[in-house]
Amino acid sequence: MMTKVTSVGQRDKALPLVSVAAIVQSGGAQQRRAVAKAITLLESTRTEHRVQADELLTALLPHTGKSFRIGISGVPGVGKSTFIEALGLYLIGQGHRVAVLTIDPSSSVSGGSILGDKTRMEKLSVQENAYIRPSPSSGTLGGVAEKTREAMLVCEAAGYDIVLVETVGVGQSETAVADMTDMFVLMQLPNAGDDLQAIKKGVMELADLVVINKADLDAIAAQRAQLQISSAMQLLGLFGSHDEKLWHPKAIQLSALNAQGVEAFWNAVTQFRTLQSANGKLVARRQQQSLAWMWERIDAGLKLTFQQHPQVQALLPRITQEVREGRMAASTAARNLLAVPMSRT
Ligand code: GDP
Repeated sequence: MMTKVTSVGQRDKALPLVSVAAIVQSGGAQQRRAVAKAITLLESTRTEHRVQADELLTALLPHTGKSFRIGISGVPGVGKSTFIEALGLYLIGQGHRVAVLTIDPSSSVSGGSILGDKTRMEKLSVQENAYIRPSPSSGTLGGVAEKTREAMLVCEAAGYDIVLVETVGVGQSETAVADMTDMFVLMQLPNAGDDLQAIKKGVMELADLVVINKADLDAIAAQRAQLQISSAMQLLGLFGSHDEKLWHPKAIQLSALNAQGVEAFWNAVTQFRTLQSANGKLVARRQQQSLAWMWERIDAGLKLTFQQHPQVQALLPRITQEVREGRMAASTAARNLLAVPMSRT
């Protein structure tokens, strides 16, 4: 298909010119720069940039969707960056191009960063066929997730055929990542089977694959964890009745440090992808995700418009005070505020 050559950004001198052709057609350093510029534009919070960012997304959209998107989550220290580096290098060796994006909820909540502070993935980051982008550093989780989704589309348009989206296993970011990827992988430590934290938090239900990392440290513990997690997933009904057309979530062992089990991991991913493509679930999941994303953004947009409305702003201090002091029920307060006519004044 011919690429429609469009440039976005020229109307605002402060913004770098983002060339769609440079993202889609070029390679090497030129493409890398274009991808970085595009993501910077998409991350801008200025309203006038948003118009250009939307134009860019629309121009890129025909070139997106061809990658396989994998979410990877786990508590700090479980070995995510070690694993992603080993996996990324393995995939590049197999001829893939790999993009690594990150959602770090700590950066939006505390201004600090769990994922970004250390030097990570040094060997992967220097690879020509790898692109690593840290988490957008401000905004609500919903906002950060939106930027990451958009960055993912840019990477896909640039021909990265495997997109890894990493997040820490704290807070709601795991759901956000599971909601934007084709496959969600949960990393666990060999001793995690004992307390099954992930099950308590409901994260296990999101997992298509559980990876028990650091199996080299204690083979017996890793084996036990694999069995415990597998049977827990069975108990949760995640396996369902056996149907060979369906994927049944499973647990595998791995040593990211020794790059052991990476190939077996990739075989499981390939099996998942083949099954989900054949049974239509891959397409259905993406469609559902796109619509959910649209509604999530509508919710956020409406809320912002609502909060900024002059009449709402005039009423808010008194009403919030009354709710705080228990003089008005929260639901009554919401109804009163929602009764404000929303025409633009
Ligand atoms: P992250 O916080 O989840 O990204 O974890 P890191 O990848 O930074 O790993 C945390 C620590 O665990 C580092 O010191 C790694 O070298 C170590 N580590 C990671 N994977 C393994 C593994 O498979 N076996 C062992 N023994 N150590 C590992």
